[in-house]
Amino acid sequence: MKNAVNEQLRRIPPINELLELDPVEKQAEKWPRDAVVGALRLYVDKLRKKVLAGAAVVPESPEAWSQSLEEYFDGWEQDLHLRPAVNATGVIIHTNLGRSPLADMARKAVERVAGTYSNLEYDLEKGERGSRYSHVEELLVQITGAEAGLVVNNNAAAIMLVLDTLAKGGEAVVSRGELVEIGGSFRVPEVMARSGAVLREVGTTNKTHLYDYEEAITEETKVILKVHTSNFRILGFTESVPLSDLAKLAKKKGIILIEDLGSGVLVDLSRLGLPKEPTVQESIAAGADVVTFSGDKLLGGPQAGIIVGRKDLIQKIKKNQLTRALRIDKMTLAALEATLKLYLLPELALVEIPTLRMLSESEETVAERARRLAEAIAATAPGAHVELVSDPAQAGGGSLPGAEIPSTAVSVVLSWVSPVDLEEWLRKQDPPVIVRVSQEKVLLNARTITDDQIPFIAETLGRSREVFV
Ligand SMILES: *Cc1c(COP(=O)(O)O)cnc(C)c1O
Repeated sequence: MKNAVNEQLRRIPPINELLELDPVEKQAEKWPRDAVVGALRLYVDKLRKKVLAGAAVVPESPEAWSQSLEEYFDGWEQDLHLRPAVNATGVIIHTNLGRSPLADMARKAVERVAGTYSNLEYDLEKGERGSRYSHVEELLVQITGAEAGLVVNNNAAAIMLVLDTLAKGGEAVVSRGELVEIGGSFRVPEVMARSGAVLREVGTTNKTHLYDYEEAITEETKVILKVHTSNFRILGFTESVPLSDLAKLAKKKGIILIEDLGSGVLVDLSRLGLPKEPTVQESIAAGADVVTFSGDKLLGGPQAGIIVGRKDLIQKIKKNQLTRALRIDKMTLAALEATLKLYLLPELALVEIPTLRMLSESEETVAERARRLAEAIAATAPGAHVELVSDPAQAGGGSLPGAEIPSTAVSVVLSWVSPVDLEEWLRKQDPPVIVRVSQEKVLLNARTITDDQIPFIAETLGRSREVFV
């Protein structure tokens, strides 16, 4: 075996011989010669590793080398580690799969500024240094009704920054029912400790009353923090204090009310038959001084942490040195501005922003897509056992906990490969197809699949036959 491998490795020609092959010569017309040589070295290194791992064989004839090298050069630009994936899981905001796909308009906005200079921090009116936050602040004010706003890396950063600015050296009062851990072990109590605020827990896990807050407030208290428990529900005998009551209390005591909304909904989802989530507008209207939320959960934009609220407080936050370390880049700002602009016309936002579109699509539309996927699979993978099953989708990303969104999945059983092996093989395709396996069946949930992915999924399942039979 070892000898066979060594024998193969010896068959790899020297670089100067590879340089004479047609596809390589063609490449040398486009790329600097040394770059072509470098690319060939990378290719040979990778081939060696693969051969040693038993995952490839060395091409035998010059024709086979030519073909392999042609494919290599053609695919060079796209052969990246971070790549698009097909989400057939039915989990709409899938943190591991990059959360929110961007709206077309947001994608184009990124492309427009990515490869060129821009007015990122340049005031075109005055011809002097400007603020990167100016591009989205007005939109945030217009949409949420807050006085001012800024944007940082993500919501975890936003909370840290807000507490560091407004609660450091003092106490922050928070309900025990809201001391949550959010995916990736982001724990509210630990973030508070990091920011230098002393945590004053009030109430119990299931019930916190207004008088609990009232009694906890002392000379040392700087803020009340309300955390929207977006990733779980405590059911049954529960009570929490409405935000408007906390706002009155904070005002009376001369302290600041901060709300971490988590998901950051800007349109009322109950209109779509989904569970009621408090919107950012409602939080501001109810009297929160500062509200933080994610850009890439229910908002459907890029990863970002958005902070809106009272002008004097936002001003202080902008001046905090920590803000500089948490700042967002031009591509995020471009995507966020375009996404927020869609919210000026909420009806457009519902169809253009993929996250909202997937949440709001009718059951019939999703079932129809499932039907078309099932038919395509039946055509490309004869002998496949294909069935439509009811399979509720989920908002995911710690949003709308417990809410099951009616959906249809295509259940696939192939006689030539087990569901577990098929799941693994599908995730190794390009693009990878991420599926769930349930009760010995591979499930493809049609709510998170797009129409234009149907042919690829069907063709891939068809191809699995050649691989496994
Ligand atoms: C998701 C979430 C966060 C963290 O937001 P990221 O944008 O992922 O950093 C913080 N608080 C709540 C309540 C959340 O749901």
